[in-house]
Amino acid sequence: MRKLLMVRYGEIYLKGLNRPYFLRALVARVKEAAKPFGGKVWLHDARVFISDMDDADACMQRVCKVFGVHSVAPAVEIEKDDFEAICQQANELMKDVNGTFKVEARRSDKHYFLESPQINAQIGEYVLMRNEDHLKVDVRKPEHILSVEIRDQAYLYCKVYPAAGGMPVGTGGKAALLLSGGIDSPVAGYMIAKRGVQLVAVHYHSFPYTSEFARQKVLDLAKILSEYCCGIRVYVVPFTDIQMQIHEKCPEDYTTLIMRRYMMRIAEKIAEKEGALALITGESIGQVASQTMEALATTNEVVQMPVFRPLIGFDKIDIMEYAKKIGTYDTSILPYEDCCTVFTPRHPATKPKMAMIQKGEAQLDQEALIQAAVDNAEIVEL
Ligand code: ATP
Ligand code: MG
Repeated sequence: MRKLLMVRYGEIYLKGLNRPYFLRALVARVKEAAKPFGGKVWLHDARVFISDMDDADACMQRVCKVFGVHSVAPAVEIEKDDFEAICQQANELMKDVNGTFKVEARRSDKHYFLESPQINAQIGEYVLMRNEDHLKVDVRKPEHILSVEIRDQAYLYCKVYPAAGGMPVGTGGKAALLLSGGIDSPVAGYMIAKRGVQLVAVHYHSFPYTSEFARQKVLDLAKILSEYCCGIRVYVVPFTDIQMQIHEKCPEDYTTLIMRRYMMRIAEKIAEKEGALALITGESIGQVASQTMEALATTNEVVQMPVFRPLIGFDKIDIMEYAKKIGTYDTSILPYEDCCTVFTPRHPATKPKMAMIQKGEAQLDQEALIQAAVDNAEIVEL
């Protein structure tokens, strides 16, 4: 008998001939997650198993954050031919549980000497006889399910913890996330990474107008994301010079939009350098002046790469709920300024005119500004 974690995968089930590729990626990601806990990881019979970890609870919490994992169950593995021992283990698992339960057997070994209904009945009776004062059988709507899987061995478990879902990171290519210190962009990055996309983050920093705290907050957010994403490289891009020049030389109502166009151009340059194929932002229609349909069109047109905006149709309140769920909210609401809030115009253009933007941008040495920003970016590996 030994204790282990039984990991189920989700959507990878739907893959046909490509399934081995996705499974290899999943196992690699689970191995990385289990490594700090000394866990041994292997794939067998449509499940990933982890044994020998020095802290099973902590390891499970970590593995629940791996994209591609649907759920994790702490299980007991036991010799399947010793049915008496299986019953005893079932009893061990249920003896401290109160309420209604049923046994749910699944046989992937079709030659097993008992069929599923017999396994259910015999284990159910064994457990019930010994725990009648606090357990009752309810086969329709039980509060607890005791699962018994008969594979190469028997596996028993009564608790299943939901995990992050999605697809293993690395199977969906790479994209560059424009990461601010706000609530939205970390959620946007999470959503795209969940589809198997590796992230590289780009953050614009306007020191000394934005403080060291603001920079650290963004790195803290990237660190939280990196637990789901198997590490993130963050480019901290110096943005003060560009912002100052825009502020001095461009029409005030257009400064935010022109600044956002610069953000997109620089991010695309960094994405190209990184082999990323798309950009990600946390924009949502109408949330602020720079996110009206017209404003989005003007920032979109400066780049060739697809721009993913997974929050485009989300209400702020729903984004906040999402941020709480993934653990970025508390860091995002810390009160440090973002470069977007430095030099904000009193009346930002919500229906911008392209001629005005072009007139403003003509005052700037675009190539030199962008090149300097990319060249002087600080790279932080998380
Ligand atoms: P967030 O909560 O993500 O900061 P927001 O509602 O504050 O978003 P804006 O400030 O208009 O919206 O920014 C829109 C998007 O532009 C952000 O979601 C993010 O992707 C990107 N962005 C804004 N500021 C920065 C920055 N300093 N560095 C990198 N990207 C940024
Ligand atoms: Mg912001």
